[in-house]
Amino acid sequence: MTGAGISTESGIPDYRGPGGVWRRDPDHEKLVTIDYYLADPDIRRRSWEYRRASPARDAEPNAAHRALVELERAGRLDRLITQNVDGLHLKAGSDPERVLELHGNMFGVLCLGCGARSSLEEALARIDAGEQDPACLACGGILKTTTVMFGENLSQDVIAEAAEAAERAEVFVAVGTSLQVMPAASLAALAERNGARLIIVNAEPTPYDELAAEVIRDPIGEAVPRLVARLMA
Ligand code: ZN
Repeated sequence: MTGAGISTESGIPDYRGPGGVWRRDPDHEKLVTIDYYLADPDIRRRSWEYRRASPARDAEPNAAHRALVELERAGRLDRLITQNVDGLHLKAGSDPERVLELHGNMFGVLCLGCGARSSLEEALARIDAGEQDPACLACGGILKTTTVMFGENLSQDVIAEAAEAAERAEVFVAVGTSLQVMPAASLAALAERNGARLIIVNAEPTPYDELAAEVIRDPIGEAVPRLVARLMA
């Protein structure tokens, strides 16, 4: 299971960390809160610009993402649960059937009216061509990225599949996650309770360090390839 920490070496700052220009916008939370998004075309316009400015659009997977692809190809990775919406596991080549994106993916777009699927790049191209708030071409409905916004529920199917994977895991590795956000935190505990060896790779302490068989504090881009080599041996 991975969190924001695996993507910082790809140039994507942890949104909980200090600094980002969008965090200084007092309205930032509105841009990613479903009720405001549905109610206000201006919030939608700014939300698309927020996605446009995301460093994830140009980011490349790093050594840690690539090592997890190797682990999968060696037949040792059952499911890859991620809290990230940056799509970097898929870009690295992880099997989409095995990747469970708890908070969705920012590169997909969904019509809230008819369910039609399109892409972020298509929406941004329409904005570049002069539309302020591109609506669904099929039904006129509101479009939004396939990320889970504040006020929306996570996919119950994704959570159920992640929980099943945690229950059957022999080894559960938590990488770059503070294990303070649900359901990620409960998945680590569930795996440990069901007999998994819990390995935590994170620069900062987590509430589950005491439960872990192993805690690794080294930089993720070095620690994960080393760990993967060990798990494949
Ligand atoms: Zn539609």
